[in-house]
Amino acid sequence: MKVATALPWTQAVWQRLTQQQLVGRLGHAILMVGQEGIGKRLLMREFAQQLLCTGLDAKPCGKCASCMLYDAGSHPDLLMVEPEEAGKQIKIEQIRKVTEFVNTTPQKGENKVVLLGPSEAMNNNASNALLKSLEEPSGHVTLLLYSHQPSGLLATIKSRCQQYELSPPNWQQGLDWLQVNSQETGLESILRLAKGAPLRALSMIEQDIHVQYMQFCQGMLDLSNGGSHWNEVMLKWKNWDTGSVLQWFYELILDMQKVKSGLPEQSLSIQELSVLTLKLAAVCDYAQLEGMLNKAIFSQQALRGQANPNSQMLIETLLIDWISLLGQARG
Ligand SMILES: [Zn+2]
Repeated sequence: MKVATALPWTQAVWQRLTQQQLVGRLGHAILMVGQEGIGKRLLMREFAQQLLCTGLDAKPCGKCASCMLYDAGSHPDLLMVEPEEAGKQIKIEQIRKVTEFVNTTPQKGENKVVLLGPSEAMNNNASNALLKSLEEPSGHVTLLLYSHQPSGLLATIKSRCQQYELSPPNWQQGLDWLQVNSQETGLESILRLAKGAPLRALSMIEQDIHVQYMQFCQGMLDLSNGGSHWNEVMLKWKNWDTGSVLQWFYELILDMQKVKSGLPEQSLSIQELSVLTLKLAAVCDYAQLEGMLNKAIFSQQALRGQANPNSQMLIETLLIDWISLLGQARG
């Protein structure tokens, strides 16, 4: 129960899973849903260890041969299926390996486990290939799926899984955890940037994404007051995390739509740019924002897609559209 101790908000769902296992009611496929960055993957990993543990006492025992192999990251009866690169798709070739894996007998104990996620990273072909393993379950295999966005999963996949939901920690719990795990200053605003998800906040700190965010906001302000040219801004942004930049763009446009719909200023995601957002929302029409929003969504999809897009070009294209919006505001 290392995870449940380290991440106290996971305790309830951990106990439910363990209880189902004890009474023999655990499905052969589990789907853990919940917000990104709150510990679903860690929880599922530890549950995999528990399923594989061959110790006699409380599981996972941490001492048996199976637990040793798990700790070493080389358990032959555990298959991890995740995008090869963060934010990319899970490929059909990876699902073919799942099919091979589930059709062989366990090497160490009585169980085999496949841990797959985020499940929405599978495209239609990969999902359909996985369905085969879900439809013809083999007794000794448990599939552990986790998903940040279950709406992106095929209904046929969801219906074959026993579903659990991990609720996020409350604000104070998340902040307490982050304060124990990071020396960084300004943790509250980083946690807000991570939408209250503490593990996501920590990974942002490790990748300097919180610093990039502040510079993103500054860049947007410089552009709007004519302080810099988009080329200069682009130069600063080019080595950043593209997924984050596109997400901030998306949220900024969404914020402008919120203003147009009469929502209060406090509801804006990017508070640092609220003055700019209010000003721009006043001069743009709804259809124009809708068009811009669709472009931002398209860029995000292109980034996640299998074809390797030129990430710099995706940002550049959005920036150019943004500049024309600014031109209108000044006009
Ligand atoms: Zn063990």
